[in-house]
Amino acid sequence: MSTVRSGLRWRPQLPAATVLAASAAVLLLVNPAAAIVPQAAAPVAAPADLGRLADERADVVEVILADSAELDALVATGVDLDHHITHTGDGIVVHAVVTGNEVATLTRAGFTFGKVLHTAEDAAQRVAEREATIAAHLAENQEYAAAADFSARSTVSDVRIIRADYYTSGDTQVLSVEAKWAQGQTDASPLTVERDSGPGTEIGSGGSQTISRFVDAGAYLYHRGAAQVTSRPAYVRITSPSGDVAVAKVNEWLPIPPKDPEGPGYMKDFVASYLTPTELYDRIKALAAQYPKISEIVELPYRTNGYRRKAQAVLGTATDSRVAVDSLAWGHQGGNDVTVELADPGVADAPLAVTVTGTQVRVDLATDGSGTVTSTAEQVVAALNARAGTLLTAYTYRGSPGTGVVGPAARTALSDGLAAPAAVSRDPHPVYAIRIGKHRDGSRLGVLAYAQEHAREWVPPLVTIETAERLLRNYAHDRKTRELVDNLDIWIAPSINPDGGHYSFYDFNSQRKNMTNHCPQDGSADFLGRNSWGVDNNRNYTEYSLFDGYSGASTSCTSGTYAGPSELSEPENRNVDWLAARPNVTFSMNLHSSGNYFMWSPGSYATPGRISAPRPTLAEESLFWGASSRILTAIKRHRNLAVTPARTGPIADVLYSAAGNSGDMLWYKYGIYAWNFEVGTSFQPAWQEAHAETMEFSNGLVEMLRVARDFDTDRKRPTSSLSVRVSATPGMVDVTFSTSEPAAVFYTLDRSRPTYDSTLYGSAGIREGGETLTIPVGTTVHWFSVDAAGNVEKNYKPDGRGNNHNKQKVKAPKG
Ligand SMILES: [Zn+2]
Repeated sequence: MSTVRSGLRWRPQLPAATVLAASAAVLLLVNPAAAIVPQAAAPVAAPADLGRLADERADVVEVILADSAELDALVATGVDLDHHITHTGDGIVVHAVVTGNEVATLTRAGFTFGKVLHTAEDAAQRVAEREATIAAHLAENQEYAAAADFSARSTVSDVRIIRADYYTSGDTQVLSVEAKWAQGQTDASPLTVERDSGPGTEIGSGGSQTISRFVDAGAYLYHRGAAQVTSRPAYVRITSPSGDVAVAKVNEWLPIPPKDPEGPGYMKDFVASYLTPTELYDRIKALAAQYPKISEIVELPYRTNGYRRKAQAVLGTATDSRVAVDSLAWGHQGGNDVTVELADPGVADAPLAVTVTGTQVRVDLATDGSGTVTSTAEQVVAALNARAGTLLTAYTYRGSPGTGVVGPAARTALSDGLAAPAAVSRDPHPVYAIRIGKHRDGSRLGVLAYAQEHAREWVPPLVTIETAERLLRNYAHDRKTRELVDNLDIWIAPSINPDGGHYSFYDFNSQRKNMTNHCPQDGSADFLGRNSWGVDNNRNYTEYSLFDGYSGASTSCTSGTYAGPSELSEPENRNVDWLAARPNVTFSMNLHSSGNYFMWSPGSYATPGRISAPRPTLAEESLFWGASSRILTAIKRHRNLAVTPARTGPIADVLYSAAGNSGDMLWYKYGIYAWNFEVGTSFQPAWQEAHAETMEFSNGLVEMLRVARDFDTDRKRPTSSLSVRVSATPGMVDVTFSTSEPAAVFYTLDRSRPTYDSTLYGSAGIREGGETLTIPVGTTVHWFSVDAAGNVEKNYKPDGRGNNHNKQKVKAPKG
């Protein structure tokens, strides 16, 4: 459905003097334009299945397009696009995730393909790299544990200090220590660091601090921790639980450039490899256990459908003689034990017969008088369903009448096709968020960050983990971090789509959607369709969706942008809806990859005509842009890579229509300032790049928290002015308003007091500033401005009686 957004729901508990300002914020954000809801057109007809088969690999390939009309046409095919779009001198280049069959189908439809950018081999290399990193850490731990055994003869200490750094931050002194313990892989004990109180003093005289394990992807890396100290220590000592000792000199940390908002001693860099959804959840659980006073784990209300499938097989090769079979039990619950054999009985005039022995199903095909097999697919299907219906269900291939004669097939084991180790749960999966804040009772302004709606996007979850760690691990010694954690209610959900996430790690690296099979038996429900199933979790939401007639989502169950059978049909989406419904959540970030974009609503339009969902008001858009420059500057600080202006703005302007996306639901349904990151350069970049992207976008996410905090504490009143220019029309002038900060302007031209019912100064058009008003010379303009936090210029009371608003009689400018 499409709803009119109701404005901000966050109501800070304000002192009485500011209550009016708060109510102004409510009025300010009710957008008159939002009442104009485009008429819902019929959804674009489902394109034919593009023909992806499960035994095909999918690559990221360029598609070369002439213009945005051709882009809309491509989107309408339901092809699986990543989030790249480049406007070149003579057209548009986008990236599609396609198999050979899909390339053939789209080429026949007139589309032109360019370079192949990312292949399944690249992904396999990333996984191998990750496995090798984890294995190397484990081997190193084993080697160290062996060398530093507990016997007295060992000369190797079982603990060694990697680094000890001292810094000052304002008046605060901090000591950060990293150490490796030989038993760290298997023993979760923290280590105690003793300090001296300066050169020549006794170790211990400066006090002590504990450091805790840093475990990544199940591999212990080292112990780390920082604490405030009262003097600069010269040496530190760690005595391990077995009594071994390590001593190290304390170093002075290099000063960080002053423009860096994080003080010296600010800890970052907490990810060492890609993490599967299971590992992401383990990580936030470990963090919440370590910081119980300022964080907790919340299990979201809806479990996924699970990393599980029915065991299946497709017997035969020609469409009309193929027999598809699915187990009734899930693969891991016995379905994988079922086997089917199509046997030639080798005698004349044999009847069609099915024998079930345990989980083995044998079909003896019928023969004619000369001993030739005569059973058709349709007949075999009927016989299997009649005689083996407690084990399996059989059907003809993709709606074929099944009139072809079936050939014999050797005993074939049905398979769910799932390759993840048994440690990956096959049950409906709980989805977890970590909630960070000193006050987690809804009384503080809420901020939500969520990642991995799209399974194959492996970097965005790391950005959320890195951010959570920065908040928790810097809390004790970094004043600015403490201000955020003490005053905000921060929800971080690292993986919205864990089933698809596991599938992308273990089975099909290009998986975008969830794992749920909504395809009918006469469609692509068979084993060969399994890499095309699933709902695009970023198209299944409630606002300006496919079901409302908007573009950029598909009704085809095999499409990369399949919107699902209905709005919020998927548990993953109901979880995001639940998170967004927290009444205090006011800002959000939906993290995707890739393309280095930074975007907000509207995210969809209806074609033809590109009728977009309502645009934010000028004040709202000003806040989006203003905050964007802060967030993007923070991202750039990491390695001087910039998100370009061309990639910043409303989704529908800078990317393409994405009907039913989550950002639109959060903005239009819940009034949340909802942003979208498209992190980095590809789904699964080489680790060095993935790491850099994680660091830079975590900078951006932390900056968004600062934006939220500043929004909450904004008591500064905006100021505004009117500029007057010569008009092309005689006797008229062109006037525009400008404001000192993101703010809305209400004005009158009839000398009446301006109120919230007066005309709201509007934006001129896409990505432009305020509109130009052309009015007669001598008109007196009355106006006031109000910022996004509800502060009114000059403390004017629009609903009161005072006259301390702005007034100006416009004269003809000179020249
Ligand atoms: Zn995505």
